[in-house]
Amino acid sequence: MTTTRFAPSPTGRLHVGNIRTALHNWMLAKKSGGKFVLRIDDTDAARSKEEYVDAIRADLVWLGIEADSEERQSQRLDRYDAAFEKLKQAGRVYPAYETAQELELKRKVQLGRGLPPIYDRGALELKEEERAAKEAEGIAPHWRFKLDHDEALAWDDGVRGASKFDPKLLSDPVIRRADGSWLYMLPSTVDDIEMGITHVLRGEDHVSNTAVQIQMFTAMGAAAPEFAHEALLVGKEGKLSKRLGSLGCDAFRERGIEPEALIATLARLGTSLPVEPISDRSALLSTFHLSTFGRAPAKFDDAELDRINTAIVHAMPFEAVRHRLPEGMDQAGWRAVQPNIGTIGEVADWWRLVTGPIDRIEFGAEDRTYLAQAAAMLAWSDDPWHCLTNALKDATGRKGKALFLPLRQALTGMDHGPDMGELLPLIGEAEVRARLQRAAYSG
Ligand code: GLU
Repeated sequence: MTTTRFAPSPTGRLHVGNIRTALHNWMLAKKSGGKFVLRIDDTDAARSKEEYVDAIRADLVWLGIEADSEERQSQRLDRYDAAFEKLKQAGRVYPAYETAQELELKRKVQLGRGLPPIYDRGALELKEEERAAKEAEGIAPHWRFKLDHDEALAWDDGVRGASKFDPKLLSDPVIRRADGSWLYMLPSTVDDIEMGITHVLRGEDHVSNTAVQIQMFTAMGAAAPEFAHEALLVGKEGKLSKRLGSLGCDAFRERGIEPEALIATLARLGTSLPVEPISDRSALLSTFHLSTFGRAPAKFDDAELDRINTAIVHAMPFEAVRHRLPEGMDQAGWRAVQPNIGTIGEVADWWRLVTGPIDRIEFGAEDRTYLAQAAAMLAWSDDPWHCLTNALKDATGRKGKALFLPLRQALTGMDHGPDMGELLPLIGEAEVRARLQRAAYSG
């Protein structure tokens, strides 16, 4: 069974980039009836906050990306200790004592000589007594994972194809700090093994982590999962933008974006498939294939999202929105305003044209006479608008704008808006007549 995971660190709110990662992992699992795990990466006790954990959960609920199970790294520290001890026994982790300043200096020297800034494994050279001396001085070590320089770091990436790193060109990663706290690398690998993760799909900023983690899987006697790295999300102008990094569900919701619109947009962004207003998730799932993902950065365009949102709103059945509509608005009301809105929030503005009060428009003498005539000729039927305008056309010889616009203005206070044929029955006979008379006689 396919099992995927989404592993946010609760040090902030989800942004559009990690929403996309969550969605794609959910899709990858659900496409084949698999499991999607939410893993809260909260080993960084100082920066992780409970309010962000709650916000992440709430955002996923709003998006309809629900996890089959939830795991928390902070509750699994004993598992990481156990793995660490085993790796230590096997000689795959080693203590290092350099300070941050010493490491920085080494880097500068290497760069100055035109060499790649790879950790020189100085700590491995230390003799037993040198180590003891450091500890006697009260210097606690941090711990590095020892890469095997003879074990190839290669995998067939679901998006990037055959991928390869030379282990000699990578630094042995620090996996544990001197205070015993964990860096991301080892806990994530332990979790992927113990949670039966079959596919790791994440951003391409993790490619070099994957290379290292592949050796960690092997060192722990486990088979590595399938890996896929998607190209990063960039702004329309093609750059990594600060704005995208803080653009989250709240902002989308406030802008009137439906979760279905965000899902439809992000599902296919960066793939060879067209972004379309598809609100049926099974239709999105059936076309989801990693092979359609491109390697070029995926461009996030607000205007495209708005377009998809409008199309999705225009196709929404009354039953799906009725609880969000103004009181008293029925199916006919929804049908009348639906083509005019881009977001559900805009419904209220148009609905006011039915319930009133409407804006007053001042008409010239000729139009007043015309509107008085309209009030007098108004006859109610199944289709009062067409009866009225046909009758007025015959009686006055007006046509086009001269025929329609004064009526629309008198009846709605606006120059444009929903179809008048749909609005009139909603406004009702008495109010229609009253609005025509008011426009013709008062003011
Ligand atoms: N917590 C890590 C992150 O947010 C998870 C990366 C991963 O998917 O392995 O970057």
